Parts: sequence; C-alpha cells; structure tokens
Amino acid sequence: MGNRSNRDILEIISSLVKYAYLELESKRFITKVAKIKSYACISWEHNHDVVRITCNEIVNGWHEAALIGLLSHELSHPASMKMGYREESTDLDVINRGLGPYLALERIITNKYSDHVIKSGRDKYLGYKSIRKLLDAQELIQLDRLLSELRLTAKESTPTLDLVHDYHVMKTNDEFVTNSDMISQYQENQVENSELKFVIRDNTTHIYLDEVLVGKFSE
Ligand SMILES: [Zn+2]
Repeated sequence: MGNRSNRDILEIISSLVKYAYLELESKRFITKVAKIKSYACISWEHNHDVVRITCNEIVNGWHEAALIGLLSHELSHPASMKMGYREESTDLDVINRGLGPYLALERIITNKYSDHVIKSGRDKYLGYKSIRKLLDAQELIQLDRLLSELRLTAKESTPTLDLVHDYHVMKTNDEFVTNSDMISQYQENQVENSELKFVIRDNTTHIYLDEVLVGKFSE
C-alpha cells in the first residue's frame, strides 16, 4: 500500500477541515505514516500554521471510516484547545461536530468498547458504548449502517495495552503542552516549524524535537 495511505490521510483531513473544522482552514498539514507507539500523534505550534500528524502504519489496513474517526480526534486537539487538553473533551468535541459515528467505529477498531481510563482516572477516552449514548437518531442510523457495511460487531474488548491511543504536543514559545507527562515542563525557546519525532527503542519512546532528545517515556 505504501504511500497510498499518506495521500488518503491528507485528502480526509482536507475534507474534514472544509466541512467540520473551518477554524483550521489556514493551517498547513504535514502528514506521515510511520512506525510509532500510538495510533496517531499530532503536534503544532501556537500561532503557527503548520500542523503535523503522524499515523501508525497500522492504519494502512483500516477502513476509511475508522481513519476519519481517528483523524477527527486529532483535529479536535488543536480545534478545541480552549476546552483543555483532555482526551475526553477532545472526544466530545468530535461528537459535537457530528462526527460521532466515525469516532465510535474507530473505538471498535482500537478495542475500546468501554471507556479507556488514563492518567489514574483523571482523563479517559470515550468508548464505543458511551459515544453511542451521545448520538442522535440520525447518527445512530449512520453508525449502524457503517457497522453492517464493514461487518463489524461491537462487543466488549480489552484495550490494546502496547499501543497508546494518541499523543498531542502543542508548543508555545516557552513550553510544551502534551498528554505525555514527560515533556510538559520542558522549557526552552525553539525555532519555528521544528519537527517532532517519536522513536521507539527498547520499549521506550524517545521524543525528538529537531533531532534533539526532549523526553522519553515507557508505558
Ligand atoms: Zn488525543
């Protein structure tokens, strides 16, 4: 499949921006498909135009509808900044924009039938069951149609523990704001449009910014 997915990702992002995330219209998206420790990661700099999204190569095998769900969640990170950086409020933002059916589908693919609690109960990813409860009649029909099209049955499942759902990193002039506890306190002025990289070695994720190691963590 190779690069097909990367082009798909950019196409999906531009449709999503056009129909649901107009406030991101001025952004330039740089996407990549790579071997990373999460399904996706997104990074952006406050007041800058570039947003980088990396998807795990696993999405090569996903149905487009699930990829729409994952990318909606990523776009909701910069779009819903005012609501904080919690995964739960990010999920709610996706649902409020009418993309809940795709998010629900993504949660089946990523084994989150029930809510996936993180940060010792301080945050969570909404599971399929919770998302379903928040959909309106029309969206439920849409979701059920997608499920039968993809021949998917929603059933209780265990979250895949070797894969974190996603990381987001927002960089301002003097700090990083991220859901990875490791680098949130890192303070240093960096040049514009710096590149963020997640590299996995010996079960540890190393975070590089412009080739400089800024943090590492193992889950
Ligand atoms: Zn997230």
